[in-house]
Amino acid sequence: MLPGSTNVYLCPNCSKSILQWTLASANGIGAKYFSDGRVKAPYFPETLRITRCGDCGTIFWLDRESIVDEFEDDDFREEDARKSAHYQEYGIWAEELDKEGWVKAIQEKVYRNPKEEVYLRKKLLWCLNDLFLVSYGILETVNSTLYLENASNLIKVLEDNSQKDLLLMAELHRNLGDFESCLEVLDQVTEPDLLPLAFAIFKKCNLKESKVFELS
Ligand SMILES: [Zn+2]
Repeated sequence: MLPGSTNVYLCPNCSKSILQWTLASANGIGAKYFSDGRVKAPYFPETLRITRCGDCGTIFWLDRESIVDEFEDDDFREEDARKSAHYQEYGIWAEELDKEGWVKAIQEKVYRNPKEEVYLRKKLLWCLNDLFLVSYGILETVNSTLYLENASNLIKVLEDNSQKDLLLMAELHRNLGDFESCLEVLDQVTEPDLLPLAFAIFKKCNLKESKVFELS
């Protein structure tokens, strides 16, 4: 995992400098795959697309066009070393939203198009599924009102013309206990790369199991 440049953004509300690292290279060693499409890869952290200002709490998108400055982690280049020292003193590192952050972003309709709504709802789904998995099912997040509301709304905004979205749609129907709809949607998944996951979901569906699972 090799670090790339650091991008600087400004909070649209309080103008605080928000820093976001980038990666020059990464690898998928040790990655874990889950039925909800999530990939947990320790050496391939995902670059953030949205964050919450650590000072005023405003949630905003980290768009490429909003980058106001950037610097490399290079002490031998005077300009970079100066910027790095300045921003590390006056800026805050962007952090990934937590459960409350995803919920707030959805409630405040921070999304600007259906694709961004899908992104936020998928992130909330993954967050709740992760809480369920890491607690060995003790935290029954997957039966909460929040989970059920998010899953059914995510089905509504997913486009059924993408094979990946179809697979997620099938998984969500299974999560909601609608096994018949799950099988119907699975039937439309034909992309060879997706068939192993489709088959794993199919098997769970036949067993009438609705919970998220890790792929072996
Ligand atoms: Zn702010």
